[in-house]
Amino acid sequence: MINSKKKLVLALALLAGGPVLAAPEGTPPTAPIPAPEDAPYPGTLTLAIDATDVARHIFAIHETIPVAGPGPMTLLFPKWLPGEHAPVGPISQLAGLVISANGKRLEWQRDPVEMTAFHVKIPEGATRLDIDMQRLAMSEDKFGGTVVTSNILAVKWSSLSLYPAGYAVSRIPIRPEVTLPHGWGYAAGLDGAKASGDTVSFAATSYEILVDSPLYAGRYSHQFDLDPGAQIPVRLTAFADHDEDLDARAEVLDAHRALVRQAYKLFGSRHYDHYDFLLALNERMSDLGIEHHRSSENGYNPKYFSDWDGLFFDHDLLAHEFTHSWNGKFRRPADLWTADYNQPMRDSLLWVYEGQTQYWGDVLAARSGLMTKPQFLDKLAVYAARMDLRTGRSWRSLQDTTNGEILDARGQHTYANWVRGLDYYVEGALIWLDADTLIRDKSKGAKSLDDFARAFFGVADGQMTPDTYRFDDVVAGLNAVLPYDWSGFLRSRLDSHGPNGPLEGLLRGGYRLVYNDQPNPALLAQDADSKTIDVIYSLGMVIGRDGTINDVAWNSPAFKAGIAPGAQLVAVNSYALDGAGADLLKPAIIAAEKPGSAPLELLIKADDRYRMVSIDYHDGLRNPHLDSLGDGALLDKIVEPRG
Ligand SMILES: [Zn+2]
Repeated sequence: MINSKKKLVLALALLAGGPVLAAPEGTPPTAPIPAPEDAPYPGTLTLAIDATDVARHIFAIHETIPVAGPGPMTLLFPKWLPGEHAPVGPISQLAGLVISANGKRLEWQRDPVEMTAFHVKIPEGATRLDIDMQRLAMSEDKFGGTVVTSNILAVKWSSLSLYPAGYAVSRIPIRPEVTLPHGWGYAAGLDGAKASGDTVSFAATSYEILVDSPLYAGRYSHQFDLDPGAQIPVRLTAFADHDEDLDARAEVLDAHRALVRQAYKLFGSRHYDHYDFLLALNERMSDLGIEHHRSSENGYNPKYFSDWDGLFFDHDLLAHEFTHSWNGKFRRPADLWTADYNQPMRDSLLWVYEGQTQYWGDVLAARSGLMTKPQFLDKLAVYAARMDLRTGRSWRSLQDTTNGEILDARGQHTYANWVRGLDYYVEGALIWLDADTLIRDKSKGAKSLDDFARAFFGVADGQMTPDTYRFDDVVAGLNAVLPYDWSGFLRSRLDSHGPNGPLEGLLRGGYRLVYNDQPNPALLAQDADSKTIDVIYSLGMVIGRDGTINDVAWNSPAFKAGIAPGAQLVAVNSYALDGAGADLLKPAIIAAEKPGSAPLELLIKADDRYRMVSIDYHDGLRNPHLDSLGDGALLDKIVEPRG
């Protein structure tokens, strides 16, 4: 707003040709938060979590932090979470924070810029801080996923503690304990467990290892030994809503054990002294997959074991997270490694960290029998088709998608082929297939990406401290396997604007992407799991079984007809969807293929309006498949189990 007096001053000043108005005055920036130093923290923190209040989703926390003397101190809540690669620490769910010293309450001040930093003044004579607070978990959690259900809970120490600023997290000792609901089983990557009643305490460790070692507990759980008799054990502990969801057939358990053997043949090393797969079989936790050095958090449909043959689309999950122990946790992109959890991470090399892990996850799943070869090929066809359809490549390079987690932390799922949020996973995997087949082709079968994996990720057996790398190290590692212009190879694909996806590896591997009306079992498996109907390659939509339009492909027939994600499909060719769900859609697409048939008529409810949409589409169902170009294909060799 400008008042008339100011207007007059302004007019006179303009007439005089002089200065207009002084620039507004702001306040100086806030004082910086102490940077983490590689120095030992003086004293050991203690952390006690009461996780018994499952009904109200409340974790009650008591923490002690020894202090060296009086003066200002800053406490941090982990903001940038490893494995999430983004600033998603659930700070808004932290409540009831009371900090005291010598039995007296200290007033804390939240930093006005960094919401995860709390400033306190340590009084004379204080030797430690006592911290009480709660984490109020949500039943459906966007950040970090669901952590409490009535039968399963995940104790993620990163969202249940504060740590002192000014020290590298690897140099802060902490002794954790947790009290669990009575009778619940648990598993964690932590050492030295001692139970006393319902409370389990662990040996002191570093804050870094603690944050990297979540604990899972549940009413129903079962532990499987995946490497019987091994010096370095590998275990799978499954947690479920029902006891019967924990029964694994012998051949299913064998495939999980084969995964461990195949991973060792690939990498030839281990960077842990034991490894724990934590597997939550619960609907609300089924999107879970977070890697750690000595463990991983995995979530799956409750029918993981009981409908093993049907729900295979994500059977690479455990293989993927296991691979991360080598690719991601041990070998880590230099710009992603930080000394504490409040320094910003940068994600520029996620096409290695996630892309190559996606590749090995699927290849190891096929080599170990977690997926059959036909299942692997059907899934690869879906990957290839999805990436080939990415119209968004015209504006957004694959390299730029590595910012996806920081940009939106998995929020954006609509117009996916235009936004291409996290394409470095799947497109990254296709690029590594391209590299693998190129190495195999040029070396006449003598070398492969296996050699790169062993030399790059499999070095320094037994070392647990992360070993960082840069783009040039990746190029040098590939050159050591096969001399080639790898920098040019990678940059041209990472910075490409298309138009089509990187399918050269598929062709060199002996397969061609084709579309026909035959169902693709991988697509059906994915639809069964996510309760969707995927007609993205024909009409250009993914529809929930209840008729909600989850996604629309940019420039597809549905898009051109003005349909947007979030709308509701109410009727198809004037038949109401109720009861039949979206099942009416595929038969209608097939019927519209007949010569002379009328356009599809879809009744859509968008916002508060009903609208009849006519789509003049007559090309039938288009499902992606891989067509073999002949015997002896490289791709067949890639998925052969290693002897
Ligand atoms: Zn991953």
